[in-house]
Amino acid sequence: MRLIESINDIKAIIRSQKSMGKTIGLVPTMGYLHEGHMSLVNMSVQHNDFTVLSVFVNPTQFGPNEDFDRYPRDIERDIKMAEAAGVDVVFSPSVEEMYPDGYKTYVEVEDITKILCGRTRPGHFKGVTTVVNKLFNIVQPDRAYFGQKDAQQVVVINKMVKDLNMNVEIVTCPIVREEDGLAMSSRNVYLSTEERKSALILSKSLFEAQELIKNGENRKENILKYIVDRIKSEKGAQIDYVEIVNADTLDSIGEFLKGRVLIALAVKFGNTRLIDNAIVEV
Ligand code: AMP
Repeated sequence: MRLIESINDIKAIIRSQKSMGKTIGLVPTMGYLHEGHMSLVNMSVQHNDFTVLSVFVNPTQFGPNEDFDRYPRDIERDIKMAEAAGVDVVFSPSVEEMYPDGYKTYVEVEDITKILCGRTRPGHFKGVTTVVNKLFNIVQPDRAYFGQKDAQQVVVINKMVKDLNMNVEIVTCPIVREEDGLAMSSRNVYLSTEERKSALILSKSLFEAQELIKNGENRKENILKYIVDRIKSEKGAQIDYVEIVNADTLDSIGEFLKGRVLIALAVKFGNTRLIDNAIVEV
């Protein structure tokens, strides 16, 4: 396995792999790897001849008061995990390599980036689509792997790929959770012991809401109220949003759940903002 930091170097490697007819899988991450990331890597290694794992904490997707500087990083550990999983190249460019002085170009998906997480994180998805676009141009993957954990990101990336006629297949992988239900996230390390306990209410309320729906509840307001009340009952939980939307388009739905719906939420515990979601077929 190789660690590559330069765009020209990885382009040369990709050219040589492609000239041998190899298929390329890309797993974009911000590093500090956990089992959620590794599930994407395992899929890519299974599906493709050559897997590139990118590790890049992308400054353009962080707001000015967000956690870019303190975002957890451990490239040595990431490299070991990548190697053990069969990754061929870890691509970990510097910020200057990706955004040299005078950088001017951004890719933006409209409307669906302004709702849900986009409301409290203006500019976030513009940063995401820009860096993913750059990674696609650099790595030219046949397939790229994204986690359902970031449900809105999946819809936004799929929209970009479709609208811009990009030649890459987007593969979405299920949410990987800790044994007690908490969705794995690099940001979970920020949580104090008490916050970690409180944060369980996110997966719990989502699981319970799914039970309610299974048992016949189909009024959007009732389900939202149930989840909001459950989360509010937990000390220190500050709700950013709880919403139910069309899972494929993020369009709002009517009074009653119908088709494939996404129940998505973002909640802060202290300074740590966590997201979680569930997709339900009604
Ligand atoms: P990040 O490093 O947080 O930007 O995540 C990189 C990729 O891993 C994204 O496509 C995430 O959706 C995915 N991912 C992060 N956490 C999980 C998880 N718990 N389960 C599945 N995928 C995940």
